Amino acid sequence: SSTSREWIRQPIIVVMGHVDHGKTTLLDKIRGTAVARKEPGEITQHVGASIVPASVLKKIAEPLKKYFPKLQIEIPGLLFIDTPGHELFANLRKRGGSVADMAILVVDVMEGFQPQTVEAINILKEKRVPFVVAANKIDRIEGWRPTPDAPFLETIRNQSQRALNLLEEKIYRIAGELYNHGFEAERFDRVRDFRRTVAIIPISAKTGEGVSELLALITGLVQQFMKKKLVTSSEPAKGVVLEVKEEPGLGTTIDVIIYDGVLRKNDLFIIAGKSKPVVTRVRALLMPRPLQDMRMHEGRFTQVEEVYAATGVKVSAPDLDDALAGSPLYVIPDETKLQDYLRMVSEEVSELRFKVESDGVVIKADTLGSLEALLEAMRREKIPVRLADVGNVSRNDVIEASVVKKSKPEYGVILAFNVKLLPEAEELAAREGVKVFQSNIIYHIIEEYGKWVKELKE
Ligand code: GDP
Ligand code: MG
Repeated sequence: SSTSREWIRQPIIVVMGHVDHGKTTLLDKIRGTAVARKEPGEITQHVGASIVPASVLKKIAEPLKKYFPKLQIEIPGLLFIDTPGHELFANLRKRGGSVADMAILVVDVMEGFQPQTVEAINILKEKRVPFVVAANKIDRIEGWRPTPDAPFLETIRNQSQRALNLLEEKIYRIAGELYNHGFEAERFDRVRDFRRTVAIIPISAKTGEGVSELLALITGLVQQFMKKKLVTSSEPAKGVVLEVKEEPGLGTTIDVIIYDGVLRKNDLFIIAGKSKPVVTRVRALLMPRPLQDMRMHEGRFTQVEEVYAATGVKVSAPDLDDALAGSPLYVIPDETKLQDYLRMVSEEVSELRFKVESDGVVIKADTLGSLEALLEAMRREKIPVRLADVGNVSRNDVIEASVVKKSKPEYGVILAFNVKLLPEAEELAAREGVKVFQSNIIYHIIEEYGKWVKELKE
């Protein structure tokens, strides 16, 4: 239309990695950097995300001119997903890919690769999300002399040869593990071709060392390789539901990441629901109130009329009780198109939630994002699936598994990710001898199940 306009949006960045390797600390550090360096009035906090604005990136890049001489900031900033609760997937799924434009894979230099690091790599590979590796906790290297917030290439000048050698060994080990997963990798300052080599940036999320290079490098890579992908326009919004949350006074709300277009108050939109797609209208768009503006008796949120990609926003609307985390969100431009959208969302969800009559395991997960990851893991391991669904393990799931158990004992099981086993299901499972493998690490579920199958066959 004549009023349509285009802009380059912030790239959406997700932080992944094994538990305790420092994801939260890194996000806090990045947020702290953004808050400390921003001009008054620049909002950096969104619902489910924080934005490091271009002005802050410029300040960060300034002292790095020596190392990144060509770096000009052309993007409006970087949008970091504040991975809530279950951090690994952050529910950024979209059909055939991810809403994330780029990932930071955090690896503790002292521990190297761990099960969730491998899980993260598998997801990034399947979703074709480019990534850099933050080799975190360099301050824990024996004899390290930290300089708070210094660039890595400067802090290494203050280190002993021994500390440098130890660091090299650890980087070398991480590069080796990446190689085992099919990636060439090098320390960032030695990379010649960033399309072929994964950059490893040694950092300390605690002291801040290396964090400026991490941000500068991501900015540079995004601008060089994915600017086209970041062009968006004032079209009906597309997004993904990060979380479904009860809010006092608002009822059930959804925290959404908008990656394309504009979302306005009163827009008609569709998301996937637990039983069927939900079609409803935006009642209010809510952004967090900046901390300094927080007054007594005022809510945590402030209302806005519209939001532009890329952003995180809380959406209040009727009928959200049934909403599914990990669901796509589409604004429906006019009601005559409603059937098309219903079909599109139903099809997309039925690829993940299904029941077939053949023998296979039952899989359950807490969100669409984790269900998709579990399903991918089943495909990788060549384990057939009879029933895939979101939600706690119910009696019905046990019944399905017990049917399979009669003809194919090794598939007569339930694999459950981050969900509960309901009491009546537990009772029935005990009675029917149906095994339930539960964990919040996919790798553990597969490993335990694999062991059990082996024992069964012996
Ligand atoms: P997450 O589970 O990946 O989110 O990890 P956290 O950010 O919660 O960090 C786990 C622990 O490691 C915490 O005790 C952090 O203080 C600590 N930690 C994180 N980053 C660093 C770092 O760079 N250096 C040191 N020494 N400790 C760190
Ligand atoms: Mg954490």
